[in-house]
Amino acid sequence: HDFLLRRQLLDANQELQNEVARRVALQYELERQASTDLLTGLPNRRALAERFAAESARAQRRSEPLSLAMFDLDHFKRVNDTYGHAGGDAVLRGVGELCIRSFRGVDVAARVGGEEFAVLLPGADAQQAGAVMQRFTALLAAAPATIGDQSVLVTSTVGVAQRQPGEDLDTLMARADTALYAGKQAGRNRVVLASAPD
Ligand code: GH3
Ligand code: MG
Ligand code: MG
Repeated sequence: HDFLLRRQLLDANQELQNEVARRVALQYELERQASTDLLTGLPNRRALAERFAAESARAQRRSEPLSLAMFDLDHFKRVNDTYGHAGGDAVLRGVGELCIRSFRGVDVAARVGGEEFAVLLPGADAQQAGAVMQRFTALLAAAPATIGDQSVLVTSTVGVAQRQPGEDLDTLMARADTALYAGKQAGRNRVVLASAPD
C-alpha cells in the first residue's frame, strides 16, 4: 500500500514538473512573439526600446558612442501599385533578410513601421554608423527582391544620429528622422547624418 502511494506521489510530482516546463516554454515563446515583427522576423519597436535601454546604459558606463539609423524605403507606394500588397510584403521580407545578413551581431535592426526600419549601432559614432549604413544602402540597391518570377530593386533613404548623453529613444529617433526627411528632399537613396543638437 505504501509503495503504491509513493508511486502515485512520484507520478504526480513528475506531471507537475512537466507542466511547469511547458509553461516556462510557453511564456518564453509569448515573449519572443511580442518582441518580433511577424512579417520580417526582425525585432519590433518594443524590442528595440528594450535593447536601447540596455545599450545606452552600457554606452554611458563605458563612455562609448551609440548611434541610431532610421531608414525608409523609397517610393514604396509604387512597389505596391505595381506588384500588389503581397508583392510589397515580399520586398519587405527581403529587406529583413538583408538586415540579418548585413549587420554585426551587436547591432539591432528592427522594423518600426510599415516600411520603416531602425538600426541601433553600439560602439559606432555618427561617422562610423554613416559608413555602415552607406554600405547597407549600396547592398540594398544592388540586391533585387524576387516577386514571383520578377525581380525588383528598391532603394532606401537613411538618417543617422549619435546618441547624446542622457538622450532618450524618442528624441534620438526624431533627430534621425529629421535627417532621413532631409535625405528624401535631397533626392533619396542616400545617407544623411543628423547635426548634433544645440
Ligand atoms: P518615399 O520615398 O517618400 O518614402 O515614398 P513612399 O512611396 O515610400 O511613401 P511612404 O513612405 O509615405 O509610403 C509608404 C507606403 O508603404 C504606403 C503603404 O501603403 C506601404 N506600406 C506600409 N506598410 C506596408 C506593409 O506592411 N506591406 C506593404 N506591402 N506595404 C506597406
Ligand atoms: Mg514611410
Ligand atoms: Mg517610403
